[in-house]
Amino acid sequence: MNARPYVLAETTWKTVRETRYEVAVLPWGATEAHNRHLPYGTDTIQCDHVAAEAARLAWEAGARVVVLPTVPFGVQTGQLDIPLCLNLNPSTQAAVLSDLAHGLVGQGVRKLVVLNGHGGNDFRQMIRELQPRVDLFLCAINWYRVVDPALHFEDLGDHAGEMETSVMQHIAPELVLPLSEAGDGRARPFRIAALRDGWAWAPRQWTQVTSDTGVGDPKASTPEKGRVYAGAAVERIAAFLVELAATSRDEMYEDPAD
Ligand SMILES: [Zn+2]
Repeated sequence: MNARPYVLAETTWKTVRETRYEVAVLPWGATEAHNRHLPYGTDTIQCDHVAAEAARLAWEAGARVVVLPTVPFGVQTGQLDIPLCLNLNPSTQAAVLSDLAHGLVGQGVRKLVVLNGHGGNDFRQMIRELQPRVDLFLCAINWYRVVDPALHFEDLGDHAGEMETSVMQHIAPELVLPLSEAGDGRARPFRIAALRDGWAWAPRQWTQVTSDTGVGDPKASTPEKGRVYAGAAVERIAAFLVELAATSRDEMYEDPAD
């Protein structure tokens, strides 16, 4: 048996009973179309991988971290007309997060990190509402924002483009179709400048934005780029987990300057 003691789904009561887990990580993905060449589970698979690898490094450094099972359903309100994009509304996500957080309180875990892998999910407001109600330090990470994609990729489209394709070619090559199957991920920008520039915001209506469901051209993707990029994110997240595990909740802020 090759169980990873930092992955809860592979861990027994025997291990859990003997381990003082300080930090729980809740990876949160989505189930949605990713151009024609990546699987619907892309966000979930990536989150799963990044969480487990970061927890492995943190565990090896002595931090007692546990990765909870990845939630595979994200917010898809802009993709309801695409077959089998499975939507969970933000209010439903908040209820799921609240139930899990309340359960962890009193089970010895002191900190919960939501590791997000889907652009339509946003846990910050949920955490603002939930934090005063639970005796548990709450925080969120978008794993794909940990390392700047511009340092690693030519095309910076944010959905099934060069970044996601490269990462999937690295972590789950058996699930990726040849790039010759992929669309070019060409996206139609908003007509209105403020929305295009991003200081005015509205959710994108996916089928009006792209015809192949991708945003970003995957043609320059390679598994090596994915390995380097995901590895850099994993290392930074692992270092954060080690620091978080070692910092008590009443010492989260620096001492005031004298
Ligand atoms: Zn994705």
